[in-house]
Amino acid sequence: MDFELDDEQALLERSVREWAAREVSPRIRDLDREHRFDPAILPQMAELGLLGISIPAEHGGAGMDYIGLGLACEELEYCDTSLRVILSVHLGLNSLTLLAWGTEDLKRRYLAPQAQGRKIATFGLTEPAAGSDVRGVQTVALKRGARYVLTGEKMWISLADVADHFLVFAWTDVEKKKQRDPSGLSAFIVERSFKGFSSGTLKEKWGIRAGNTGFFKMDEVEVPEENLVGLPGEGFKIAMFALDQGRYTVAAGATGLIRACRDASARYARERRAFGVEIGRHQLVKEMIAQMESDYQAARLLWMRAGWLKNLGRRSTRETSLAKWFATVSSERAAGDAVEVHGANGYSDEYPVGRFYRNAKGAVIYEGTREIHKLMQADYVLGYRADRPTRCELPPHRRPVER
Ligand SMILES: Cc1cc2nc3c(=O)[nH]c(=O)nc-3n(C[C@H](O)[C@H](O)[C@H](O)COP(=O)(O)OP(=O)(O)OC[C@H]3O[C@@H](n4cnc5c(N)ncnc54)[C@H](O)[C@@H]3O)c2cc1C
Repeated sequence: MDFELDDEQALLERSVREWAAREVSPRIRDLDREHRFDPAILPQMAELGLLGISIPAEHGGAGMDYIGLGLACEELEYCDTSLRVILSVHLGLNSLTLLAWGTEDLKRRYLAPQAQGRKIATFGLTEPAAGSDVRGVQTVALKRGARYVLTGEKMWISLADVADHFLVFAWTDVEKKKQRDPSGLSAFIVERSFKGFSSGTLKEKWGIRAGNTGFFKMDEVEVPEENLVGLPGEGFKIAMFALDQGRYTVAAGATGLIRACRDASARYARERRAFGVEIGRHQLVKEMIAQMESDYQAARLLWMRAGWLKNLGRRSTRETSLAKWFATVSSERAAGDAVEVHGANGYSDEYPVGRFYRNAKGAVIYEGTREIHKLMQADYVLGYRADRPTRCELPPHRRPVER
């Protein structure tokens, strides 16, 4: 076991930290207040190589390992959750799925431009009536000649009004849809430019307000059969695979948010005085800060273990779920306590901790709610759940990390 970052990883961590502190932190409060997603951030992230960070160079990416992806997510969310969400949907949920399940043609047409940041991608699973219960999806894809015709609506989609490419899940077998048999679901790449596609932004969101979240509708959108990802009927497995990668980014990101809460709280506790001393001298304030520190360190170890398994090309559904559950729930507690440490000042947006609190809650809900991860973890321990091999797995990181 080696807990040291290699030179490349350490450089990446520093570069993302410095970039976010310089380019985004000074204006994040305004973006958040104005509910404004700034698209100019995307080319900057592309320039840093972040949009294809763990995609191999032969597909246009930066070729870093999965620990590098986690480090980038931690640093992005240290600044603001909206930045990390970009990597979660574009890279974690969409591009890594294409890397594992896409044909060479799909990789050339979609993965490469995404890895270079020339095109932005996202993930469309959730619908108005289907979140945790994926079998409740209503979108259908009916085969017509060499095309599939997709009709349905996706809801709560990150970057819905921004992305060019959408990884979409729909029923290709209507009989199985009636029986709620997930082997009737399939996955497709849909382009914004396809006829019948429209999208919009959700305006009433109270967290991740500097991010774009919305819906898209497909009204008889014709999709060439080459845009099917995997085989017909593999959609459910592909969605679960994608979530293994997306959850990893959420886990690492939430870890960064805990650190942001810890640092803001420690800073404030040294400045603010009550009863004649810095509030950091009061034991109950220390307790909150100590909890943040222990949650931060534990969350970091958990996502790093999942990243290590991914580097080896080993399945990490169980470990990733635990990392995501622990980090997000801990980040919600850390953010709540960070507001507490700030007293009334924490209850205004003059300080960042209120934003941290609003942002933390989203990640407890998406990519498997707290309850879904609890059920998964209990089922693994009880022997009610075991992961079966899938036809395609995440490729290992080919260059062994040099020490
Ligand atoms: C900011 C944000 C961004 C998002 N981005 C995306 C995206 O890019 N793409 C995408 O596809 N989706 C996205 N989502 C949607 C997200 O994945 C879903 O909200 C999530 O899966 C939960 O589904 P739901 O909201 O329908 O809640 P429900 O599934 O209706 O759950 C409601 C409550 O019931 C509980 N519950 C449900 N089933 C069980 C059960 N079996 N046992 C115990 N409790 C249960 C849940 O834990 C929860 O507390 C996003 C959501 C948010 C908030």
